[in-house]
Amino acid sequence: MIDLTDNTSSVDVDHFFPHVLKKSDFKNIDGIWNLVLACVECNRGHKGKFQNLPEIYLLERLHQRNEYLIGSNHPLQKTLILQTGDTENKRRDFLNDYYNKSRSILINTWKPSD
Ligand SMILES: [Zn+2]
Repeated sequence: MIDLTDNTSSVDVDHFFPHVLKKSDFKNIDGIWNLVLACVECNRGHKGKFQNLPEIYLLERLHQRNEYLIGSNHPLQKTLILQTGDTENKRRDFLNDYYNKSRSILINTWKPSD
């Protein structure tokens, strides 16, 4: 369990699709499907993600993370299915549509630095 109020914690919870998209009417940006654990450096460090769009290879990682939780009988399984679709194909389309729509608004992409 991560204590989100502990500033010394080295893990942040971050939006994969940045929160700024909420202004453009993107649906359910705060949904668990879009929340990922990120190190402090990635979330708000010098070369952090901020309002940039993660590169496309990271979208596949988000998809795999969500599929893993759905397949593992995780308590969030039902929530994820309700938010993103009841088959893997629908969920993949959901993420791809979201990504393509985001690209028309967010100019810069981002990837973690090593
Ligand atoms: Zn990182």
